[in-house]
Amino acid sequence: MRALVIEDNEDLNRQLSRALTDAGYAVDSALDGEEGHYLGETEPYDVIVLDLGLPKLDGVSVLERWRRENIATPVLILTARDRWSEKVAGFDAGADDYLTKPFHTEELLARLRALTRRAAGHATATIECGGLSVDTRGARVFIEGAPVKVTSHEFRMLSYMAHHQDRVISRSELVEHIYDQDFDRDSNTIEVFIGRLRKKIGQDRIETVRGLGYRLVDPNSRAA
Ligand code: CA
Repeated sequence: MRALVIEDNEDLNRQLSRALTDAGYAVDSALDGEEGHYLGETEPYDVIVLDLGLPKLDGVSVLERWRRENIATPVLILTARDRWSEKVAGFDAGADDYLTKPFHTEELLARLRALTRRAAGHATATIECGGLSVDTRGARVFIEGAPVKVTSHEFRMLSYMAHHQDRVISRSELVEHIYDQDFDRDSNTIEVFIGRLRKKIGQDRIETVRGLGYRLVDPNSRAA
């Protein structure tokens, strides 16, 4: 999963970006509304944290522009205390959730998990696929209840595939959702990651659809 943090307070931006990275997201960040709007319109994020009080272009305008451009990425807005009218303007502009500053990082992370989950049509924090469990809260993976050790990149990839297990995901889509902007992207490394993941979770859990990409499958239902 890939996230964008738009917050002009450098300390808070750094703190949020670090917390999201630790929670298993690939993270990009912006310090003003113009850059944030540009990133949100050109990169395919799974979730966006948007401060409303921003230099160059305010958060509500950023959000209105995205929604006019049919960018439907889930957005959580950060609002100042006692500014109820900001929240109303934010929701009217197309926000999916909000937090009032100051807030606990844990609450932010829980709300972001809920947003990405709902956007992909899942109701719980643990996403299942035929005995494979992806715990999005603890960034852990289990097979039939037994823990499987995965790296942060492997987790991001598996989590993205588990969120979208109903369809085939291309290599370029995986690249876009597991790396941040500054990462040296190479879609060949995806094959290497898939190979490693198959060794860890079982060869038959990731199906290769020739010419299209990969799909997470339930090996039992496939045999039936
Ligand atoms: Ca601000």
